[in-house]
Amino acid sequence: MLKEKIKEKARAYKADFIAARRYLHSHPELSYEEKETSLFVQNALKQWGIPFETMAETGVVGLIKGKNPDARIIALRADMDALPIEEQNDIDFSSQNKGVMHACGHDVHTTCLLGAARILSELKEEWEGTVKLIFQPGEEKNPGGASLMIQAGVLDNPRPQGIFGLHVHPLLPAGKLSFREGKCMASADELYFTIKGKGGHAAQPDLTVDTILAAAQLVVNLQQVISRNRNPFSPSVLSICSFQGGFTTNVIPSEVSLKGTFRAMDEKWRFRAHELVKDEASGTALATGAAIETLVDVGYPSVDNNPELTKTGRSIAEGYLGAENVEETELRMGAEDFGYYTQAIPGCFFRLGVRNEEKGYVNNVHTPTFMVDENAIEIGMGVMALLGATATV
Ligand SMILES: [Zn+2]
Ligand SMILES: [Zn+2]
Repeated sequence: MLKEKIKEKARAYKADFIAARRYLHSHPELSYEEKETSLFVQNALKQWGIPFETMAETGVVGLIKGKNPDARIIALRADMDALPIEEQNDIDFSSQNKGVMHACGHDVHTTCLLGAARILSELKEEWEGTVKLIFQPGEEKNPGGASLMIQAGVLDNPRPQGIFGLHVHPLLPAGKLSFREGKCMASADELYFTIKGKGGHAAQPDLTVDTILAAAQLVVNLQQVISRNRNPFSPSVLSICSFQGGFTTNVIPSEVSLKGTFRAMDEKWRFRAHELVKDEASGTALATGAAIETLVDVGYPSVDNNPELTKTGRSIAEGYLGAENVEETELRMGAEDFGYYTQAIPGCFFRLGVRNEEKGYVNNVHTPTFMVDENAIEIGMGVMALLGATATV
């Protein structure tokens, strides 16, 4: 049975791929600079005789044909970039690239996809269709490697009927997976405001435009955009996270800047909210006499898991791991550029548990002490292989 053969290979190659993950972990590269990582992936595919092309500079796209290659086409995706974080883990494979760390587990994602590639290629007489392997750059940084890969044609020739991606999950114990149908992660847009006015003596506000007060009012007014306009059943968050202006006790500054993020689960509301944010800034400018420049930097769309593909993926995962080890992913307001794929074709973004309380691997992603239980790699590569070999849309 194909499932058993995949399991056997995942077990047999576990140590090799843990070693591969440790190499990647110790050689992290920032978004769009994944040169060594890309070469590592290319060399591995070459070694296993898997044809590939490069795309969007450091991206790698491989193709594995099973029997009857046109019967079905499934894409499997991994991201390869690391974060500008200084690693604080005391391990013998810690980051050798100062100030850069695989703190979001993309080393694990790349490893799991490599493992799946090797297994699928060795068993290609045993399954039908074609699997497209997508190793993408730049998940952590706008405009998102996924959008660049799609522009470069990653979803054409051949066009996959569905795409799967996995992400490590620090809250889910190693040994488990989780899935969620429909919207599961938010869109994320960056907000920038510059509030300008005639500064001056703090004792003579009547001769100035109080940019601090105008900015403060804008922060408050922006919260009303969300609370009074969004559908209460559709999660949405606006947070102003930087408020900078002024330098002393008795001078009203001539400029204040605000930065923040806007998250949503509904694309229609998302773009309406952008207009409301701009209107709120114009209104505050009118009321206070300040000039307000607004920039909404549009980021990743929400991740919208196709219900049918997710049902299929979940039942394949349950068959592989046992239903007791597959859970429902909770809704999160984090963002992922996998959302671009789910806008284009049916997609399923699921979670790989990497938590281990006994070993103390409990810290969140994007922290300098993030660690994963490497036993999860055997599961990640096996499940990715089985999804690639058997999922249908
Ligand atoms: Zn991340
Ligand atoms: Zn990530």
